Formats: sequence, structure tokens, C-alpha cells
Amino acid sequence: MKRVKYILSFILVGLIVMNCSKPEPAVKEKDFKYVTEQFADLKIQRYQIPGFEELSLKQKELLYYLSMAAQSGREIIFDQNYKHNLYIKRTLEAILKDYKGDRTDPEFAKFLEYTKRVWFSNGIHHHYSNRKFTPEFSFQYFERLVAGTNDELLPLQSGENANTLLKKLKPIIFDPNVDAIKTNQSPDVDLIKTSAINYYEGVTQKEVEEYYKTTVDPKDSTPVSYGLNSKMVKENGKVQEKVWKVGGMYTKAIEQIVHWLELAVTVAENNQQKKTLQLLIDYYKTGELKKFDEYSIEWVKDTESLIDVVNGFIETYGDPLGYRASFESIVSFKDLEATKRIKTITDNAQWFEDNSPLMPGHKKKNVTGISGKVITVVSESGDSSPSTPIGVNLPNADWIRKDYGSKSVNLGNIVHAYNMASATSGVLEEFAYSDEQIKRAKEYGALSDDLHTDMHEAIGHGSGQLNPGVGQPNETLKNYSSTLEEARADLVALYYVFDKKLVDIGVMPSLEAGKAQYDSYIRNALLTQLARIRIGDNIEQAHMRNRMLIAKWAYEKGAKDNVIEKKVKDGKTYFVVNDYEKLKSLFGELLRDIQRIKSEGDFQAGKNLVENYAVKVDPEIHKEVLARYAKLKIAPYAGFINPILKPVMDGNTIIDIIVEYPEDFTTQMIYYSNKFSFLPTYN
Ligand SMILES: [Zn+2]
Repeated sequence: MKRVKYILSFILVGLIVMNCSKPEPAVKEKDFKYVTEQFADLKIQRYQIPGFEELSLKQKELLYYLSMAAQSGREIIFDQNYKHNLYIKRTLEAILKDYKGDRTDPEFAKFLEYTKRVWFSNGIHHHYSNRKFTPEFSFQYFERLVAGTNDELLPLQSGENANTLLKKLKPIIFDPNVDAIKTNQSPDVDLIKTSAINYYEGVTQKEVEEYYKTTVDPKDSTPVSYGLNSKMVKENGKVQEKVWKVGGMYTKAIEQIVHWLELAVTVAENNQQKKTLQLLIDYYKTGELKKFDEYSIEWVKDTESLIDVVNGFIETYGDPLGYRASFESIVSFKDLEATKRIKTITDNAQWFEDNSPLMPGHKKKNVTGISGKVITVVSESGDSSPSTPIGVNLPNADWIRKDYGSKSVNLGNIVHAYNMASATSGVLEEFAYSDEQIKRAKEYGALSDDLHTDMHEAIGHGSGQLNPGVGQPNETLKNYSSTLEEARADLVALYYVFDKKLVDIGVMPSLEAGKAQYDSYIRNALLTQLARIRIGDNIEQAHMRNRMLIAKWAYEKGAKDNVIEKKVKDGKTYFVVNDYEKLKSLFGELLRDIQRIKSEGDFQAGKNLVENYAVKVDPEIHKEVLARYAKLKIAPYAGFINPILKPVMDGNTIIDIIVEYPEDFTTQMIYYSNKFSFLPTYN
């Protein structure tokens, strides 16, 4: 494989970022603006779609329809995240479009910043920390903004006027204690009552758990993903589900999604893809979760098509109880050249399973259908945008993964954009202990991150099996299941990234790359990722928790052999790996135990691991990291402006699709709001 090397001086905090080989980019690298602006703790970036021009017209048309389907659902995530989000968003956008007062006022800049943060997080809770953020302008100023805006543009509900709108929004926007957390994960409180997420209304955690105790048959070996596509409410004293489907909740957006998917079917690349898209349409029309499973199975089987799409209610991170899923879409086509690396790994998936440190009964005897690819993203929406994953492994249903396999996807052009943007951030130089570490990171960091992501998704999430009769992890491990699952996948990647097998199969030049990964993983987990949280806060996000869990556990267990050493130089703290072999076997030991916890559904052991290692932050180190980070002046989070596909028409016929790369985040958000606003303000 031809690999274009980028020297990167580190990587966004907490993200595993890798480089990738690319065909000729659409715009000359040096002319393309990868970063457009920075505000609050956020950075706005752009990505290109290399290879788009070489696609056939039919393929371009398919990508266009799928992108339209993706954006048609984009408002759903706002409503899912919080029931007042669309009301807030529409108020902010009305002001932005119409406010007649002074727009050069510094307070107006604060208003604009708040609005951009709401767009970025798809609501008023921080996309990563889950906590509500509040404006830096005053309520009095907000009153002036509303007064200077035409009432008719405001999202007034029946009986409301501008004054009642203000009264209603005052606590919602300005009081940090009202609906403070989107998804609460603290133990020993009612997780439903204390979470602002709009997946439940009028029900208690106990009622939800009772509901599923009576609906879910624990003996069913092929269960549907209960609750995945509905809101749970109590109406007339009865707990029930409002299903997200055509004719159900969110119908106005879903009808549009279906419209574009139906057009996509007409230009499908092959019969398998056609069948898959048709099942997705049927699922949206009926809301039947059985249909979603049928769709998922056919989607896994479709490995031949160049073009692919994720569109639906997919990830359950936002539900404190892990049932309901957020809307997202990722439209892409395969990067054939870069896919060869990941394919080599998935071709050896059975070897990795057989040789893993898992207990024999927890290993898959027949690793089926794991397919991996590097994709070129064309458009993203919902929970995947503006903040995006860099790797995806689907479907999520464990039994489908076991019986039919899963698709593991690496978002190549997004990762490339990250690398281009962070090449000169200075984080590596600040937090790496020695020149040796820096040199190793520059030489092998990108490749080892690539390998980590590939293995995390393909042989990590894809590995292991549940004991017969044990329920799905969200049932057994509850609010700890996401963190433990991410830890499990990371540990598989960490265990093998320092293994000669990778050298033998030709994806890694030497074990030095593995060392680079160990250095950076420990550094990130114990130091740099802390830049993402506020003083005094616990770690909430599942990926951050899993990294802390792994690193702190290994640090503690290896202490007597000095496997990882805490060093202080010139008043700065560093964590240095002294013994890579021993660290590998510690990773293996923890992997075996977390797999056991998952396979047996051992809630108490899972809870102990997470609560003891993953949640708390050393306040002194945290303060130090924030101070060192502040000097570098880089935003810890990034999100992306999407390219826009535009059809070129000859009468009613599409004769070409062209790609535009918008440069301004605000312009894109307003464009989307004008074009893809289908839902009522309250659903
Ligand atoms: Zn993962």
C-alpha cells in the first residue's frame, strides 16, 4: 500500500487520529483551509471528498440522494437531546436572521457564540461533557434581542407572545441548575428523572425497568433492540412507547428521509444494496424493530457496493439506560487503496480471537463476517455532525454480530483532515517526556493510531461472546455497559498493537509502532484528555472513562514493577512507560476480566471497575494539565462543516453532481435550517 506520511506533532486530545493514503485530493492540499474558526472550546474544520469526480454519474446521484436523506433527519437529534431544543434553536435563528439592533455590540458576538455552540452540540448541553452550558450575555440583553426581532419569526406556541417566550426561556437557557445534565450516569439516583434527554417523559427509572422486565424474554436468543426507536411516556396512567416512524413521532422528517431513500433505490449499485435500502424504508414506514434487524443483516452482507450509508436510530450512548438511540447518518464511499490495511487485519480475525487472552469459553469459535474498510465521507448528520466519530462498527445487536458479523469502518478523509489541522498544535512536545518519545510518535504515531482504530472497531467490538442465557449488556451492566464495551475494544487493540503478528502480516514495520501507541495512550488517558473537562467535574463520557479505567488500572497494578512511572521534571508531570512487555500482559489481564464481566453479566464487578478507576480525576494533575494546555491555545474539540452536493440539471434530468466546500459554519447552519426544517417545534 502506498502510504503518504504526515509528520504530526500530535493529535487532538482524546482522539485517536491516524493518517491514511489518499488519491489525488480534490483541491491542492496547501490551498485547502482545514480549520475555519475557533470559539469557546470548539474548533470548526473542513474535509475534502477526494475521488468524487472519478465516480460515475449514477454513483454521484446515489450519494446525492443519500446526503439529502441524511440532512432531512438532522432536526430529530435536537428534539431527542432535549425537548426545548428546537424552541431554543428557532428563537436563536430568528434573532440571527432578523434582529434590527446593533450587531457590532460585543454582546452580540457573545450571542453569536452561544448560537454556534447550540448548533455544534445539537442542543444546549455540551456534546461531550453532557452538561448544560449557559450564555455569556445577560438575560436583559436577550430581552433586547427578542424585542428587536419580528414576532412572526419566533417559534411561538398557541397563546404565547414574546413576553411569555422570554419568561419560559429564562430558566431553560440561563439557569445552569435547570435540566443541568443531558445523560446522567451517577449511581444511586433516578437516572431518568435526573437526565434532560427527551427519551422519557412522566416515567421513573423503576417503571422503565419494570416495563422491560415484562416485555423482554431473557431466553430469546435473537431479541430485537427494545426501545431503540421510540420515546417512552406515561399517558392516562399507562407506560407506553411513541414510535419514531412514518405516521408516528417525527413523521414529518422521516417522510422526507423515506422520499430520498426511495430515489436512492432507483440508482442503487446492485441488488443487494437495493434490497438493503428497501428494508430500511420498510422499517421507517412500519417502525417494526424486526424489520430493523432484517435490514441490519442485509446491510452487513453488502460488502461489494462502493457506496454505503448509515441512516437511522443507531447509538444508545444518550440513554442513561441504553435502550433508545439517537438519529445519525454517515454517507460514504469506499477508499479502495486504504482499505487493504484493514482487510489484512480482518482476514486474520480468527487468529486474533484464538490467540487472545480471553477465557476459552468467552472466545468466538467461528468469527464470521467481520469486514473492514476505510471510507471517504461525503456527508454527515444528526449525532455524527458536526462532531464526528473517526471509526464506526455496526450493527450493535450482539446476536447479529455473532451470527452475521459486523462492518468496521474507518473514516479516512475525516482523519486526514484532523491530521492536517493538528500538525502544529504543540501538544506532543508539551506532554511527551523525552525526545525519544517525540521522535517515536512522529515516526510511528499516525500508523499506530490507524492500527489502533482498525483493531478497536474490527477485532475489538467484534470479539468475544456472551454466556448462554445471559442478557444483553445494557440489561445486565446497565449504565456501565458503554464504558466497559469501549474499554474491551480498546484493550483488544492495545494488546495486539504490541504484537509481532502485526509485523508478520505486513501492516506494521516494527514493534516500535506499538511502543508509540502505548506511550500516547497512557499520556492521553492520564494527562491530555483531562483538558476536556472542567475543574471539579467527574469524567462522564464513555470513551474518556474507558481510557482512564485502563490507564489507571494498569498504573496501579504495575506499580510494584514500575511498569508505568510518574515523573516530575521542571514542575511538570509526565507518565512514562518503562516496561512495554509487562504493560501488554496487564492489558491482557484486564481484557480477560472485562470480557468475563460482559459474558457473565457481572454488574457488581463492572460497577466496581468503573467507579474505582474511570470516574474520578486527580485535582492537582487536572489543574496542571489545564494550565499547560491553556498556553497552547487550542480548542480541545473539533467539528466539521459538510461539503454540499449540488445537482446540475438539464430540464428535469440530473446531468452531473458537483461538490461545494462551504467555508463558514454559520452560513451552513442557516442553510440547513432553511432547507431541512420539517418538524414541529414540539413533538
Ligand atoms: Zn468503540
